[in-house]
Amino acid sequence: MITIPPALQPPSRLLLGPGPSDAHPRVLRAMATPLMGHLDPAFLVIMAEVQEMLRAAFRTSNRLTLPISATGMAGMETCLVNLVEPGDRVVVCNAGFFSNRMVDVAQRCGTEVTEIKRPWGEVFTFEEIAEVVRRVKPKALGVVHAETSTGVLQPLDGLGALCRETGAMLVADTVTSLGCVPVELDAWGVDAAFSCSQKGLACPPGLSPVSFSQRALDVLHNRKTKVQSWYLDLSLITQYWGQDRSYHHTGPISMIYAIHEGLRVVLEEGLEARFERHRRNYRALRAGLEALGMRYVAPAAHQLPELNAVYLPAGLEDLPVRKRLLEDYGIEIGGGLGELKGKIWRIGLMGCNSRADVVYSLLGALERVLVQFGVVVAPGAATAAAQQAYAAGN
Ligand SMILES: *Cc1c(COP(=O)(O)O)cnc(C)c1O
Repeated sequence: MITIPPALQPPSRLLLGPGPSDAHPRVLRAMATPLMGHLDPAFLVIMAEVQEMLRAAFRTSNRLTLPISATGMAGMETCLVNLVEPGDRVVVCNAGFFSNRMVDVAQRCGTEVTEIKRPWGEVFTFEEIAEVVRRVKPKALGVVHAETSTGVLQPLDGLGALCRETGAMLVADTVTSLGCVPVELDAWGVDAAFSCSQKGLACPPGLSPVSFSQRALDVLHNRKTKVQSWYLDLSLITQYWGQDRSYHHTGPISMIYAIHEGLRVVLEEGLEARFERHRRNYRALRAGLEALGMRYVAPAAHQLPELNAVYLPAGLEDLPVRKRLLEDYGIEIGGGLGELKGKIWRIGLMGCNSRADVVYSLLGALERVLVQFGVVVAPGAATAAAQQAYAAGN
């Protein structure tokens, strides 16, 4: 006989890792409202509103803008499987864990991938990308806008024009940038972008917003082969999200409620105000972390405000410290991925977690834990530095 486990009682957590970040309370309330059928006329209205709000968040007029019913990685696959065919050439700027995955996904599509490589934590110059793209003339250029493994913001300026000049599709991973830093699909000429629900949009994981330009749609419509993934084939999915509203898969109703409310929160605050809030709290966090002797992986000019990748203080072990933070303070931060595993922490201030009280909670707790692990810090140094940064108001 099975012993039925007790009812769920999740511990109280502050999610300051690379995602998921905490869902906004309004999002959680929206998710607890009753279901309706996924072809109910009332639900179709909600779907259309989600699309309209996603266009505003992505700053695009792309008709094909919708959330894929799966997490961010499915967005990456969606962009690639729909745009490339076996034998196509793809160029990927690879300087981190997620760009490495983009290489893998593109190769699995049967493409010939040329990687432009840089050590993790570095930024690509326009010139070096342009040189390779003009030479290789790929079908697609893949770039990670916000590389969550290193905290680097890769500028996309100029790449849209470069891709138009050479006939490539510009594919951008905006999983960690959407809702935290400016994402300008139309102004930058991005042809296919994907994101997620659980980072800057302050929803649970489960949806991956994607957006395709008209150029990208033309490529999709002129394919010689069928998209190899049935579930992610946008020509099928758009029949569900478009005028036809024909059944493709059952829309994840509660997640659509979630992103509907999450996007309402984002747009009520206003994108510019939201970006500025992320920058302000980042500056305070950074001052505090540096007061604790921590160094950033990314160059300051290209640091993401929502994801702080910092080297561990010398001599410390990664896991015991994170365990103590979680057990004693209920705070989750992330460890390093790939080659930075055990060497860095990744501290996220995303969406509704980018707040002064969160900055102070983390710095206070981290300082205390570091002292317990033998790191010498002046008491209150981290929070004092944060306070100064807020006061400077820069
Ligand atoms: C989190 C992340 C992903 C993957 O998203 P999932 O929701 O975990 O599938 C892809 N790219 C980047 C840059 C990310 O940070």
